[in-house]
Amino acid sequence: MRKIIIAGNWKMNKTSLEAMELVNLLRRELTDISQVDMVVCPPFTALSEINDLLNETPIGLGAQDVYWEDAGAFTGEVSAPMLKGSGCAYVIIGHSERRQYFAETDETVNKKIKAALKHELTPIVCIGERLDERESGKTFDVVKTQCTGSFADLSADEMSRIIIAYEPIWAIGTGKTATPEQAQEVHQFIRGFFKEKYGEEIAAGLRIQYGGSVKPDNTEALMSQPDIDGALVGGASLKSDSFIQIIKNSCNVKK
Ligand code: PEP
Repeated sequence: MRKIIIAGNWKMNKTSLEAMELVNLLRRELTDISQVDMVVCPPFTALSEINDLLNETPIGLGAQDVYWEDAGAFTGEVSAPMLKGSGCAYVIIGHSERRQYFAETDETVNKKIKAALKHELTPIVCIGERLDERESGKTFDVVKTQCTGSFADLSADEMSRIIIAYEPIWAIGTGKTATPEQAQEVHQFIRGFFKEKYGEEIAAGLRIQYGGSVKPDNTEALMSQPDIDGALVGGASLKSDSFIQIIKNSCNVKK
């Protein structure tokens, strides 16, 4: 059985103080939840403070990006050992905004995944098609290409330590959610891809989150789909009420 995992991607929002305010509200409401895994991904600048606040809570800490080298002359970058040192257990890799604005490719995503795994961080790897690609019937081709490149040369053990987030780009921050059926068919396709590559056991254990305008009122329908194992939440993770409600609604889903 795959446990649902809900992660909040705060993107470039919240000063340390604002981040601490939000986490204080989350802590109060989520301390007793064990039915789903929960993660918050604040900006780098707030990681250490948030790590202190999350101590002895069931909420995990993640970063939004990582560089593939451990250390060196790479001004502005942050490495996996640094994230570990700040208390992270997770890291988002290859978010569509990084692919779109910061020239991330499947090749760089692959290097980052390997660096994260080497330092025992759980990568949350984002894939997903653009609107024009969906409209021209290329969704499965795009997703297949991303899966082939981003997850190249990984052992079965490495693959079993990865979370995938299927995020159709046209649904991110737009208020347009993929229907549960649209999301399910791509999730099923992704699981099938990994079944062919690694076999039934790895594919059956793989957690695949959906991302794209997840809100409290669409959570249950999405999470009830057989191949949807959680959500990567952007906008709705910035407010305590909506993030808490998404988590609580996920707890109601019987898998
Ligand atoms: C995201 O940024 O990963 C995301 C899914 O954003 P939103 O929930 O705002 O669409």
